[in-house]
Amino acid sequence: MTSYTESEERRALRREVAKLAGKFGREWFTEKSRAGEKTTELWLEIGRSGYLGINIPEEYGGGGGGIGDIAAVCEELAAQGCPLLLMVVSPAICGTIISRYGTEEQKQKWLPGICDGTGTMAFAITEPDAGTNSHNITTTARRDGDGWVLNGRKIYISGVDEADNVLVVARTEDTRTGKVKPVLFVVPTDSEGFEARPIAMEIVSPELQFQVFLDDVHLPADALVGDESGGLVQLFAGLNPERIMAASFSTGLARFALDRASAYAKERVVFQAPIGTHQAIAHPLAQSKIEIELARLMTQKAAALYDAGDDVGAGEAANMAKYAAAEAACDAADRAVQTHGGNGITQEYGMAGLLVATRAGRIAPVSREMILNFVAMHSLGLPKSY
Ligand SMILES: Cc1cc2nc3c(=O)[nH]c(=O)nc-3n(C[C@H](O)[C@H](O)[C@H](O)COP(=O)(O)OP(=O)(O)OC[C@H]3O[C@@H](n4cnc5c(N)ncnc54)[C@H](O)[C@@H]3O)c2cc1C
Repeated sequence: MTSYTESEERRALRREVAKLAGKFGREWFTEKSRAGEKTTELWLEIGRSGYLGINIPEEYGGGGGGIGDIAAVCEELAAQGCPLLLMVVSPAICGTIISRYGTEEQKQKWLPGICDGTGTMAFAITEPDAGTNSHNITTTARRDGDGWVLNGRKIYISGVDEADNVLVVARTEDTRTGKVKPVLFVVPTDSEGFEARPIAMEIVSPELQFQVFLDDVHLPADALVGDESGGLVQLFAGLNPERIMAASFSTGLARFALDRASAYAKERVVFQAPIGTHQAIAHPLAQSKIEIELARLMTQKAAALYDAGDDVGAGEAANMAKYAAAEAACDAADRAVQTHGGNGITQEYGMAGLLVATRAGRIAPVSREMILNFVAMHSLGLPKSY
């Protein structure tokens, strides 16, 4: 029989992560962000507890679990008000690609640090000109003896300052077919010719976004992950985990917003009864509860399909989950602000910051429009518009 509830083991994992993140909490997270400090303590504790690499094979320091497990970790952190974007990037995207396509030496070199949090890896595909159209990336890898030389520019790359390496998506110089042949390289952030400049964002988060400049960055042969000609398949291996994680990030934030709003609605009295008595306040929160649970269900389905090896089924479900989760999160944040009245836009209550944080989920890592394009084309068979 199909099960619509998670295993007891998964639920126990959620409780443990929630307990751990709860020790830190939203106020701590916000203070760190506003002071321009990092949340490394939390990151390392998640690593030490075995949650950061829970999806990575045990022989490389991981927990041997699946995307469903790491997605649960990501969601519970966010639900406690400690959303960590690098969870999406380091263990889920980079960890998955290296676990699936790295050589034995590469796995031994990079996976243990991803698991314990001491060797975080960022991920860079987006470019200023190509934007959503990743087929147009121009960051180019040229052969140089046994090794490679990389030149190009990336934008909105999360957490470069906290990462030892960046998994960079480039193209090889062979442009005979005119089609991009993506290749993936692990680039140390202290490489000569590598420069990262922070972008001033309106998000209250300790994790920053960067412009990355790659000017004649020399890399050894073993910086190339996977096959030079199979880059697209390798890249796609990271996409479903990315979407499932982004969905979990959003449902976690949405739960956090809704919890705070519900608590406030029970306490705040301006006429005779708490404001939650008014259906104008209660119904939007109830709607959010339903939307969040629907998005969580689809996210768990996507993770289950992915972990069962059904990449195609997981692709459709992961896109739908990511869409639904981002929409649910934006609405939950907006309703949480409204429930708080004037307090909703004070720093003290910290609700307004959620508007931007949840809004980012509609844009990254893949925009809602591109998901709608995917569903229109692949689920409905409609013609491609671009
Ligand atoms: C907080 C944050 C963190 C990020 N972290 C990373 C990271 O770590 N690594 C990384 O590589 N990237 C990262 N990104 C980049 C992110 O993946 C891109 O912002 C996203 O893919 C959209 O690209 P763009 O910003 O260039 O928008 P554009 O491509 O310029 O798109 C602008 C708008 O046009 C729409 N649009 C474009 N083409 C179509 C079409 N064919 N049909 C319909 N609508 C279309 C888009 O949906 C969007 O609404 C991050 C972004 C943010 C905001």
